[in-house]
Amino acid sequence: NREWHLLSRPVGWPKPEDFALVEAPVPAVGEGQVLVRNKYLSVDPYMRGRMSAAKSYAAPFELGKVMQGGAVGEVIESRAEGFAVGDHVLHFLGWREYAALDAKNAVKVGPTAVPSVKVDPEAVPLSTYLGVLGMTGLTAYAGLLRTASFKEGDVVFVSGAAGAVGSQVGQIAKLKGASRVIGSAGSDEKVKLLVEEYGFDAAFNYKSGPVDEQLREAAPDGIDVYFDNVGGDHLEAAIGSLNLNGRIAICGMISVYNNTEPAPGPKNLARLIQTRGRMEGFLVGDHYDLQPQFVQEVGPWVASGALKYRETVVEGVENTLDAFLGVLRGDNTGKMIVKL
Ligand code: NDP
Repeated sequence: NREWHLLSRPVGWPKPEDFALVEAPVPAVGEGQVLVRNKYLSVDPYMRGRMSAAKSYAAPFELGKVMQGGAVGEVIESRAEGFAVGDHVLHFLGWREYAALDAKNAVKVGPTAVPSVKVDPEAVPLSTYLGVLGMTGLTAYAGLLRTASFKEGDVVFVSGAAGAVGSQVGQIAKLKGASRVIGSAGSDEKVKLLVEEYGFDAAFNYKSGPVDEQLREAAPDGIDVYFDNVGGDHLEAAIGSLNLNGRIAICGMISVYNNTEPAPGPKNLARLIQTRGRMEGFLVGDHYDLQPQFVQEVGPWVASGALKYRETVVEGVENTLDAFLGVLRGDNTGKMIVKL
């Protein structure tokens, strides 16, 4: 059983020396617990925050201990009612090969799941419970529909648009009647994918020129919704293009996660007064009441192919750290997954 420990709190970009892959015994299974052999691990941008000591919405990872994260695995031993060997479960003890956990912290997924999830298991592989049908999918759904109060006819701009959350935001907006969807991403290949495969009306590579100019060109009549995954000059550009009664959902600010000094704020906030604009941060954890509605609506889109998704799959527990760093670098298209 190999597991990843945090040895020291990274300053700036995380370095390999801040972590160790440690050999540990397979954990013992207590009464009411299940032993899970993890099959898919999630690596996510928010984990950078948990590597720091700063107080945040999720407690910092403890030094010298195994890190945590979303994971899907197979129950190989059960001392809990309702869970059988062979069941697949979603849980929160990732960054390791084997996990023993209280059954109340495991959610059944896949073919053996409670039949409330009415999606064809063939069409929705287990890894999707970490991505398009999981936490990042719900983030897109709740942030767009609830926080940004999306309505039919809106012009929507999303940054990080080829990533797990962003690619879903743009497609849900299209499926729900946006008049125009614009995305930004960090490579020409990703931009091509957005327009040619995901049906975005326009997209641009933020590395090819100033974001504000590229956004004005892509949205000549302005934007009604900005879904922010990035912060920095993307947020500034979005405020500059905001229409009357525009809404900005602050989901993430990946451009500043490795900063050692606070980043400067947008200079043009006064535009929120002219536009009666609203800017609001949100956390997916506050929106799990939408989960059943989300699965019911988005599940069939995923199964039918109306909503497309990509996963970047890295193999082997030993490559989990590099997969995580890859998310910060932009190596991924769609959800970054580690397959064990
Ligand atoms: P992604 O799959 O989008 O991966 C992150 C992407 O960010 C990379 O692929 C990279 O793509 C892009 N990126 C990295 N650095 C920069 C930069 N300096 N400027 C612009 N883009 C950059 O991750 P997720 O979909 O999991 O998360 C997206 C955002 O949503 C993150 O900010 C995350 O923290 C946030 N989030 C927030 C939640 C909440 O509850 N509020 C829940 C889940 C996620 P590229 O090649 O395009 O640069």
